Amino acid sequence: MLDQTIIDELRSKVIPDQHNFIDNQFVIDPAAKRLAVESPIDGKVFTSICDSSGEDVDSAVAAARAAFNCGDWSNAAPAYRKKILLKWAELIEQHAVEIAVLGVRDNGTDINTALKGEPLGAANTLRYYAEACDKLYGEIAPTSDAVLGLIHREPVGVVGLIIPWNFPLMIAAWKLGPALAAGNCVVLKPAESASLTLLKIAELAAQAGMPSGVLNVVTGLGSSCGEAIGLHMDIDVLAFTGSGPIGRRLLEYSARSNLKRIYLELGGKSPNIIFADAANLDRVARETAASIFRNSGQVCVAASRVIVENSIKEELTEKVLAYARTYRIGDPLLLSNNVGAIANSTQLQVITDKVQQGIDQGATLALGGKRILADSGGYYFAPTIFLDVQPSMSIATQEVFGPVLSIIGFDTMDEAIEIANSTEYGLSSVVWTANLATAHTMVKAIQAGVVQVNCFSGADITVPLGGVKQSGNGSDKSLHGFDKYINVKTAWISLDAN
Ligand code: NAD
Ligand code: MN
Repeated sequence: MLDQTIIDELRSKVIPDQHNFIDNQFVIDPAAKRLAVESPIDGKVFTSICDSSGEDVDSAVAAARAAFNCGDWSNAAPAYRKKILLKWAELIEQHAVEIAVLGVRDNGTDINTALKGEPLGAANTLRYYAEACDKLYGEIAPTSDAVLGLIHREPVGVVGLIIPWNFPLMIAAWKLGPALAAGNCVVLKPAESASLTLLKIAELAAQAGMPSGVLNVVTGLGSSCGEAIGLHMDIDVLAFTGSGPIGRRLLEYSARSNLKRIYLELGGKSPNIIFADAANLDRVARETAASIFRNSGQVCVAASRVIVENSIKEELTEKVLAYARTYRIGDPLLLSNNVGAIANSTQLQVITDKVQQGIDQGATLALGGKRILADSGGYYFAPTIFLDVQPSMSIATQEVFGPVLSIIGFDTMDEAIEIANSTEYGLSSVVWTANLATAHTMVKAIQAGVVQVNCFSGADITVPLGGVKQSGNGSDKSLHGFDKYINVKTAWISLDAN
């Protein structure tokens, strides 16, 4: 499907200044403040987005509220919403290569990963929720015969979505799919460093026939546009994926405003626990490398902590080092590369600083540790591996969100469990063992929303993804993904007319 000539044509396409999408149109405001959009491929500015103010957020929320109240979407038969969402998915798929290249220019993910995970992944997710929405029933409660208890499922109202830059379309679709399918209207703020593809798919939603005001996209900084969403009195639910500190701030905004429901997906420091009886150490090493080096580690479920039985630590380390050296890092729009750039210059600095902390705290840098290809002007970072990592070091406890792997040894299963659970996070985890009892014990013992045994990334829309502890609350994906965007309402109906 991908062809280098087509990619090269698309990569040089001039992208005009971008505008917010409200009430099914781009809002062209010559007086609006602008943010330059820099490509992580070469550090060059190639377009701009609107630096939205609180007033822009107000108009997006007003559009969403009016659309919700008029009922064309929220009160429509679910089969009607299904039809439009399916059409939307089809249009996204038709424009997939164009959208993928645009997204890569914005956030630096290699084009193969971007195409599959972003437009195609988003289309797949929207289809899943479109197909589900006319198959969800209410309930009749088992009360006495004299009175009927009905449990209705209703859309909540206006949903705010705040999205990060690593997989902007995929993560947005996990939230847009259930929110829209359930009948809500949405105001979405993409990350300032990855907004372009979300503006593009909003336009396609209108083309698919989505009524005006149902999906609105406002771009801008977290501290202004994002804060205005967090504090808005007329947003009922806010779902977020991003960092812990901002997640905490959203909870404060909610408390200071209208107690809007807040759902958080805050990343992790996922353990990758390797027992000496793991069946195929070569495969373990290959998947261990993939779990942290694909998309330069900018993945919320990246398995950034290897916790390996000491008897095989050296052998495993050698194999992981060998696989790490095979990654072809560079221009993410060249099909010959399989890892692209760090999404923005701020994140490049975050990674650089966290690696330096690892060195300062006494871990051994076995590979990488630095920016590469700086002559290109782009933001590339070498696959990085730390040995002699103590569980208490910051590189073992804090999310780096970069291609940085920490390797820690253990002797007993209890020790492995203790190390695995010793961070504030609990999003994902991986266990490698040939012993069924060990596998079951670990599945129960690990504090995480996801445990993968003898595989990495059993990613599928049919299963929930959500964290425990300080990785957040609520789930994206699967039918559980609807819960965040639905209210249950009880209706009592007396059958006794007297
Ligand atoms: P962030 O949490 O700062 O930003 C995520 C989103 O929140 C963006 O849209 C941003 O504009 C918005 N935001 C920022 N400040 C806000 C505020 N005060 N009010 C409302 N919204 C606000 O994350 P980041 O800068 O994109 O990345 C920093 C760290 O976040 C990374 O190093 C990584 O650890 C983590 N992260 C996690 C994920 C994930 O998938 N869980 C994704 C991206 C980043
Ligand atoms: Mn960008």
